[in-house]
Amino acid sequence: MKIGLIDVDSHNYPNLALMKISAWHKSRGDTVEWWWSDMVHYDVVYMSKVFSNEYSADVQEPINADRVIKGGTGYAIDLENGVEVYNKERDPVLPPEIENICPDYSIYPELAKDTANGFLTRGCPRGCAFCHVAKKEGRKSCQVAELAEFWRGQRNIQIMDPNILACKDRAKLLEQLAASRAYVDFNQGLDIRLTDRDVADLIGRIRVQRLHFAWDNPKDDLRPYFQRFSEWYRRKDPSKKVVYVLTNFGSTLDEDLFRIYTLRDLGYDPYVMIYNKSSAPQEIRYLQRWCNNRLIFRAQPDFSKYDPRRG
Ligand code: SF4
Repeated sequence: MKIGLIDVDSHNYPNLALMKISAWHKSRGDTVEWWWSDMVHYDVVYMSKVFSNEYSADVQEPINADRVIKGGTGYAIDLENGVEVYNKERDPVLPPEIENICPDYSIYPELAKDTANGFLTRGCPRGCAFCHVAKKEGRKSCQVAELAEFWRGQRNIQIMDPNILACKDRAKLLEQLAASRAYVDFNQGLDIRLTDRDVADLIGRIRVQRLHFAWDNPKDDLRPYFQRFSEWYRRKDPSKKVVYVLTNFGSTLDEDLFRIYTLRDLGYDPYVMIYNKSSAPQEIRYLQRWCNNRLIFRAQPDFSKYDPRRG
């Protein structure tokens, strides 16, 4: 069979589902290539879209294909009254024989260069209102793979798990990452509330460029958790501990600033994320520019004195 692939997002990030689909078809002797023209006939074309329409516009379906299969979170999100709503029925799961295969990293020779991507766990017990993970993967973090299933000795590993620390097998999985000696990026962040001294020690043995956490809800007082992790974790440099601060989702500017200043005082680098950016007030965009530009943030520590016209 002749298979065409379309990465609808075309962002600078490899699409894991397409890499697995490619690996599976190649294992059956099929020809796989990026779809490039309606002049070419394909037996099946797969279109995958990870991001919502706000960040990634859809593209036209190919017409010269016997079958077109669309999937990905990006096809399942609608914006209703400024809030993203996830529709599971529009986001089909991959069959186990594809889900569990080692990805074909060769389709992204640059983006996936010397980097393994995958999930060790799926699901998250928290069910945050702005997040689709609970609906998509369930309200429990469960192991779905061993590291060796998608890591082939690459120098870098990107772990895409939504909440690996909520998994009962977390110690074993963190041990696998430490033993790899690869540089690990937990790109969905770690849940600071689920850290303890053992976890801090284990993370301290993993080679990471920087850790990511989140403080999304200002109603949650996460100060004690950040405080104690800071004491336990061996790396003290704030740039190695970045914390996403969600804004424009029911918080006030004062609540946003409280989290930003608190995190800075505790030795972390806050990083402002804007929910539904097209609806965000100008002030929040200025807040993001001020906070996320480290030169500005360090030069002018007080947002009330930041003059956006002067950069
Ligand atoms: S903790 Fe993270 S992954 Fe879990 S529901 Fe909240 S935002 Fe989603």
